[in-house]
Amino acid sequence: MKKDHKEDKNRYRLLYDLHTHTTFSHGKGSIEDNVRAALAKGLKTVGISDHGPGHVTYGIKRSSIAAMRKEVERLKPLYPQIGILLGAEANIINPSGRLDVTEEELKQFDYLLAGYHYGVFGEKPGFALGIHAQNFILSGWFHRSTKQQEKRNTELAVRAIYENEIKILTHPGDKGPFDIGEIALACADRGTLMEISTWHHWLNVDGIKKAAKTNTRFVISSDAHSPERIGDCEGAVDRIREAELDFNRVDNLIIEA
Ligand SMILES: [Zn+2]
Ligand SMILES: [Zn+2]
Repeated sequence: MKKDHKEDKNRYRLLYDLHTHTTFSHGKGSIEDNVRAALAKGLKTVGISDHGPGHVTYGIKRSSIAAMRKEVERLKPLYPQIGILLGAEANIINPSGRLDVTEEELKQFDYLLAGYHYGVFGEKPGFALGIHAQNFILSGWFHRSTKQQEKRNTELAVRAIYENEIKILTHPGDKGPFDIGEIALACADRGTLMEISTWHHWLNVDGIKKAAKTNTRFVISSDAHSPERIGDCEGAVDRIREAELDFNRVDNLIIEA
């Protein structure tokens, strides 16, 4: 007998969610709120990954990193049923792919995510202006892009993947044209997971199909900006099905029998 849609949806849940935001950037909940929500969802691990300090509006203050670490350590013994990790969603700040987290700051984090966002000036204003202007105006407003623009975006992402230890590349393909096949090759080579985000609609179906041709692995993240969204996997599962991606290639998806 065919199961109804709702019953079918309830079969899917996440083992972990490493992409969640708090009030340290522009999320609505505290670190503890996110931990409690993750626990209620039955996750085994939750990661706090606020925006890197290079983001001018949403970025964490560099001075807050120690306090975030301290709070995570305070919560660990209070919630022993769940793993609590501190990460950051870093930004690329120069043409060689460097991220906006220093070596010293990196020691405070358990892992790094990285993604492309507007609102990052980078080390030199020319770097940001050149890249964001085209992606934001040409692609964002006019839905157009050039080959040269795609090449530059892709090279930057690939360099960042090789220059840094990036656990997850967040919402690949968002906010500008990228060659997802090229990026997937780099992710496969470096063991960086490609995110299927349930907040941004990236990877999209086409991106999943292209990336699936390589050996890359995938991960679903909620990118929750409010605690109640933590562990959400619904839209991602739909896209995975449409792209006919083998569920076994998704690192954190649990399917109940
Ligand atoms: Zn992001
Ligand atoms: Zn995010």
